[in-house]
Amino acid sequence: MERLEATKPIDFLTDTAYEAFVQRLTSGEPLERHGYAALLSALTEEQAADLQQRARRTAQIRFGTGIYVRGLIEISNYCRNNCYYCGIRRSNPAISRYRLSEEDILACCRQGADIGFRTFVLQGGEDPQQDDAWLAEVVRSIRRSFPEHAITLSVGERSEEAYRTFREAGADRYLLRHETRNPGHYARLHPKEMSLEHRLGCLNTLKQLGFQTGAGMMVGSPGQTLDCLVDDLCFLDELQPEMIGVGPFIPASHTPFAREQAGSIELTLRLLSLLRLRFPDVLLPATTALATLDPDGREKGILAGANVLMPNLSPSDVRSKYALYAHKRCMGDEAAEQLSLLDGRLQRIGYRIVFERGDYQPAVQAGAE
Ligand code: SF4
Repeated sequence: MERLEATKPIDFLTDTAYEAFVQRLTSGEPLERHGYAALLSALTEEQAADLQQRARRTAQIRFGTGIYVRGLIEISNYCRNNCYYCGIRRSNPAISRYRLSEEDILACCRQGADIGFRTFVLQGGEDPQQDDAWLAEVVRSIRRSFPEHAITLSVGERSEEAYRTFREAGADRYLLRHETRNPGHYARLHPKEMSLEHRLGCLNTLKQLGFQTGAGMMVGSPGQTLDCLVDDLCFLDELQPEMIGVGPFIPASHTPFAREQAGSIELTLRLLSLLRLRFPDVLLPATTALATLDPDGREKGILAGANVLMPNLSPSDVRSKYALYAHKRCMGDEAAEQLSLLDGRLQRIGYRIVFERGDYQPAVQAGAE
């Protein structure tokens, strides 16, 4: 269903209209465009606080106060693409490139498993040297060594055949943010050789192959309007992803957007709450971008309805090189080996780390209401 028509700005939402939108969301129904636009742009302070509280309560009913942790392994900062917003884009001459070997990656997994992680997330640019056959072999090796662990891939757009091979090799989940569903906005963020249709096709293929599939978008990327975000929400309604990654845009040095403004934390939190109410079972990270812009961003994300964190498990000498944006946090309480710091911070807001695999499970299957 195509729902890309323009959305009229809304200045004010009565409590009655607000309640009707929230009731519809919590009953499992998508909103029309004007409903999403209203919840994103027209809430009073009291309504915004209420939305967040309801989202937090929804997450707690579904997941308790446990926050899933995933060990993030950044396998390569080479990329054949040139997305305008990305710090590791092909044309950035100012970063020091690296790629991990299979042995490096397995060593990260071993370290992560010793700490207690039950999910490994292999994330990287579209590095031609880490080709499909190589990556499938890495997944097979991890699967052999860690038969009980979840393997998540986040390595961009690949062919259907490649995705199928990864799945057969033992990968369980795949993250591929769509970044924007709006064609004009997509063209503002990406060079001509990249295609929104192809990105969306990849997401559909991943779903069909049975991956727990993650989509998502930056908030406040250059050229993004309220309409774009509404397009994103309508698209997520159609895709029904198992994971959604939403974080504020942060400009990266030496990119075409280096001088742009960062995205809004408040709007990011609003989106997290809206998504939690719309998709109560979805796996929703409080992203590193949120923690980079605001020292308490991670906690704020959780209090807005997020239920996943992804501490950095990459070798410490490469962490600062995976600079998707400026000043990305990767040490201290973002570091996998310092989980006690993270757990302490979570406990201060009434939450705790849990080391379960944390697969996507609709509430009906999980035995909840
Ligand atoms: S956003 Fe992804 S595909 Fe685009 S340049 Fe960065 S790593 Fe490559």
